[in-house]
Amino acid sequence: MKIKYAKRMDNLKASEIREILKLTERPEVISFAGGLPAPELFPIKEMKKVSELVLEEAGKQALQYSTTEGFPPLREKIAERLMDTGIRGNGDNLLITSGSQQGLDFSAKIFLNEDDIVVCESPSYIGAINAFKAYLPQFIEITTDDDGMIMEELEEVLSTKENVKMIYVIPDFQNPSGRTWSVERRKKLVELANKFDLPIIEDNPYGELRFEGARPPSVKSFDKEGRVIYLGTFSKTFCPGLRIGWVYAEAELLQKYILVKQAADLHSNSMSQRELDKFLELYDLDAHIEKIKKVYRKRRDIMLKTMEETFPKSLKYTYPEGGLFTWVELPIHLNARDILLKALEVNVAFVPGGSFFPNGGRENTLRLNYSNMPEDKIKEGIERLGKVLEKAMEE
Ligand code: PMP
Repeated sequence: MKIKYAKRMDNLKASEIREILKLTERPEVISFAGGLPAPELFPIKEMKKVSELVLEEAGKQALQYSTTEGFPPLREKIAERLMDTGIRGNGDNLLITSGSQQGLDFSAKIFLNEDDIVVCESPSYIGAINAFKAYLPQFIEITTDDDGMIMEELEEVLSTKENVKMIYVIPDFQNPSGRTWSVERRKKLVELANKFDLPIIEDNPYGELRFEGARPPSVKSFDKEGRVIYLGTFSKTFCPGLRIGWVYAEAELLQKYILVKQAADLHSNSMSQRELDKFLELYDLDAHIEKIKKVYRKRRDIMLKTMEETFPKSLKYTYPEGGLFTWVELPIHLNARDILLKALEVNVAFVPGGSFFPNGGRENTLRLNYSNMPEDKIKEGIERLGKVLEKAMEE
């Protein structure tokens, strides 16, 4: 058989790391590898009740085709929740998507021709990198520090490169670094996008999971020209299995997303949308988020405290004020893929950082997730990893 695949398939390869990490699903492995929410916090009893109610009250509509934009009462409720981030619109600004992952795919579909440039943080979210890659773009990574992208570097790139078509950022508790952008950088980013007439994709799945400090205004809140597209999701604040995310944008841009959504899958799951809407009507999502934050905060604390006690002192890592991840930098001569193999020998897993850099390199980095393991396992796993790292640094 000599089937010829589309050129974009050359760019989509099974990740070697993903294959290794599949082996880590054994129960004895302490895994800091995924980005999964804690399943014990899913509101299963409440979901049982709301799905019964939806079927009783509107079964025919919930199981029928529906509009591309999504269920209007749910869109209104999301718009209401976005006020907290300084976004002042209404349900008409929203399109419900199948997770924010779909919003990432659509963004690339809408803005990128082959060889166009997407500018992103270095490192950036691997799922976005892979979604974008299907459209055969080039990536330019901008160096980041604890306050976000370095704006001078961004300006230099935008001044010298002609075919930049979009800027992609994760300003709150970034995946993978756990860092949050300062307010100044958010403002400056919008200023530069205005100057160079570019769209910004603001991807924000973690902003509501803040353990301490005040939530900064979204990048979108500084946007007076309607060029920021804000992607959100209920995956981390509720449950990812429902696959409910959204695109928030002004009319002209939103219309493009609606057209693309219609062509891709007509609309998101009607039943999930109505279940979620019913949940928001009957229960207090903010109280639920408080519960999640309490658990994750403790897990973060135990992870960072154990890292402080057991990791070699020269290692650098980030202090996330929320979200799911911390990010570790090893000495330049160490490769986190080799360290992973050693860690697996003592049943500990994490994600080596190399694949979060679209242009490669930086193999001396790794991402640790703390949301999906109980506290005792976090302590045990980090202690074991500490020993592996110590040994690797001595060699
Ligand atoms: N963006 C980022 C930065 C993420 O970390 C994730 C999930 N890991 C997503 C988008 C996609 O989330 P979902 O499709 O479940 O909404």
